[in-house]
Amino acid sequence: MPVLPVHNAVAVPDSTVYFRPDYYRSMTGREPQQDAKVILVVTKEPMARAEVKPESFYPVGVSGIVRETDVQGFVLVELRSRVNIEELTIQPDKTIKVEVSRRPDIEDLDPADAQRRVTAMKEEVLAFADGKPWQAALRVFASMWTTMGDIAAGLSPWMPGKSEERYALLAEDSKARRFEMMEKMLYENLELMKVGNEVRTAQEEDHQKLYREAAIKKQLEYLQNELDEMHPENISDLQKLEQRLKDAPLNELARKECGKVLSRLKQEGKNSAEYGLLYDYLDFLASLPWQKAEAKDIDLDEAEKILDADHFGLSKVKRRIIQQIAVMNLRRLQSGSILLFVGAPGTGKTSIGQSIAKALGREYVRVSLGGVRDEADIRGHRRTYIGAMPGRILDGIQKCGVSNPVMVLDEVDKLSMSYNGDPASALLEVLDPEQNKSFTDHYLNVPFDLSDVLFICTANSLDTIPQPLLDRMEVISFQGYTPTEKQEIARLHLLPKAMEAVGIGEGELELAPETVQAIIDDYTREAGVRGLKKCMDTLCRSAAVHLVRGGEKPLRVTPGDLRELLDMRPLPHRHVKDGSKPGVVTGLAWTPVGGDVLYIETLLTRGSGKTVITGRLGDVMKESAQIAVSLVKHLFPEHADLFEHNDLHIHVPDGATPKDGPSAGVTLTSSLASLVTGVPVPPTIAMTGEVSLQGEVKPIGGLPEKLMAAQRAGVTKVFIPEENLDDLREVASEVKEALEIVPVTDVEELLACLGIHPKEPTRIAV
Ligand code: ADP
Repeated sequence: MPVLPVHNAVAVPDSTVYFRPDYYRSMTGREPQQDAKVILVVTKEPMARAEVKPESFYPVGVSGIVRETDVQGFVLVELRSRVNIEELTIQPDKTIKVEVSRRPDIEDLDPADAQRRVTAMKEEVLAFADGKPWQAALRVFASMWTTMGDIAAGLSPWMPGKSEERYALLAEDSKARRFEMMEKMLYENLELMKVGNEVRTAQEEDHQKLYREAAIKKQLEYLQNELDEMHPENISDLQKLEQRLKDAPLNELARKECGKVLSRLKQEGKNSAEYGLLYDYLDFLASLPWQKAEAKDIDLDEAEKILDADHFGLSKVKRRIIQQIAVMNLRRLQSGSILLFVGAPGTGKTSIGQSIAKALGREYVRVSLGGVRDEADIRGHRRTYIGAMPGRILDGIQKCGVSNPVMVLDEVDKLSMSYNGDPASALLEVLDPEQNKSFTDHYLNVPFDLSDVLFICTANSLDTIPQPLLDRMEVISFQGYTPTEKQEIARLHLLPKAMEAVGIGEGELELAPETVQAIIDDYTREAGVRGLKKCMDTLCRSAAVHLVRGGEKPLRVTPGDLRELLDMRPLPHRHVKDGSKPGVVTGLAWTPVGGDVLYIETLLTRGSGKTVITGRLGDVMKESAQIAVSLVKHLFPEHADLFEHNDLHIHVPDGATPKDGPSAGVTLTSSLASLVTGVPVPPTIAMTGEVSLQGEVKPIGGLPEKLMAAQRAGVTKVFIPEENLDDLREVASEVKEALEIVPVTDVEELLACLGIHPKEPTRIAV
């Protein structure tokens, strides 16, 4: 009797199984013969006939009869009854010999119920097959199914599951149990296949979408290429950009970000809204100077020459810059201390920054911070914002195209805070050598090294600069120019430049020194030379018209011609008033636009002891007024009751420029003392100094600017705090010569000098 080993198959009584003839032959070692009896034995592992051993088999098998040997290329075996394998031997030719005994079933299956359930199962299977390509084949197959065993055996090759489970069906004695087990297995597997099917369909749909998308993109690309070929001028900007990015020496993080954005850009396609944004970003990234520039050796003499050639005077500033260059040379650094140039407009702060760049042989870039209220102005907007832009710092870097420019941060005193963060703290990060190595602009989103940038800041006043920022910088003040210096600047720099700008050659325009002086005195009133420059420009334009009309050469401009050529009226003379009146005293003030003279007027009116203060005064000045009142009451007790029966009015005219600071203390006190004593103070006498309640005269700031203003206004004598004597070194000698400067230490002494107080005057002018 042939013995046929099977594995992982459902082989149960009352079912029909199919084998390929060569399988039958190779496993049994015999030709399949019609009506031959065979015994099916089940192997625990899949194996070839040559490998089988007696232990390879389960103890229960099943007997069957070969019904047909070649039905559609299969050997068809009808399984009959289960057998216990009593003994199994492997013959030398590797065929198997068994001794079996019949293993009876427990007959507990209701045939009618079983028939119903088999029909139901068949329907279920056919329903599942509905619409599948193999539906017809399955129908043929299913028409031959009469038992649950048939169905299970028929579907077995398509059902996952372990071989033990299948063997368990055979080992089950109860027919009803066996039926149930097969039924359950079939239903479960059908469910599984259904779910699998659904998942597969969903996946297929997804895949299809992807394929479709890819196909459309390919097509688009193809069309785009075609278009590009028609218009070679715009041959893929993207390709050019990609090449630029590849060539740019980006740092690691930037390279990564670049890769990310580039692949998103490609995904987006040219017509998407985001394409432009991503493109702009990459363009910005590619155009930043990632390459570090080498530090150069600077010839100090050469640098000095360049500085001198561009700017007249400013020797202190130039000296400091030369020092900085020397240090940078020695330490082979590209940057050094951060200089803060403070002074009135037009004193050359910004333009000397440009000369420094020239002297260092480096690029120059100016970043204006005036009116910056938003942190994003410094640090950029995140790219997720519509209209996102890099901050002004990186924008400047990109514009100049090198990693080591001289960057002038203009008007740091005009930064202001708003709800959108504190720009000053962002600026702090820019200027901090510890942090600016990896400055991260929100737009760029990767760190950029700013450590080679030489920063220079400019400001009109120190008052509004946040202290932490101020701590980082070294303050260098620009005090404004004297009339003589202005003359020189006009002659050597402003006029030649203005002439060149409009194309007037040498010898075609002549300005006598007194003409320049007239411009300085009558048409400008400033500490710097901005107005003077404007006048020179206007003059040259007017001269150009004259020359083009064929007027005589050279055109000689006299002071009398200025009115017409400049097309403006001379400014009202800022000369101290004539005549003197008790209660009016000349003071000196410092303002962000340079020094200025001011008059403090006081008046007593009948009243009840109130004090009224008018004019644009700051809080500090109002306090000074209180101190002055108390001091005068103390110094002149005989007049003290004047204040009780009268109202006191203090006024500081010319309210256009805000004045603050305590330096009007002496002027206020003198004015009040003059008022109560009736002793007038000549307007040509000016003074500046803070006053304590003890009557001490305390030092003040901005002395050079104030003295210059005094000289401009025609003051002849100035009282200054003795502690400020040292500052006179900074004052141009021309100014010192024109003024009688008297240092004082306390108010009584000052009042004595003015002839108001009986104390003997002991001071003499320096
Ligand atoms: P600031 O920045 O202090 O407001 P700028 O640097 O803009 O002043 O200077 C205004 C103009 O005056 C510029 O054209 C500059 O060249 C000129 N200028 C200022 N100071 C000098 C100087 N010392 N020598 C020559 N030109 C000067």
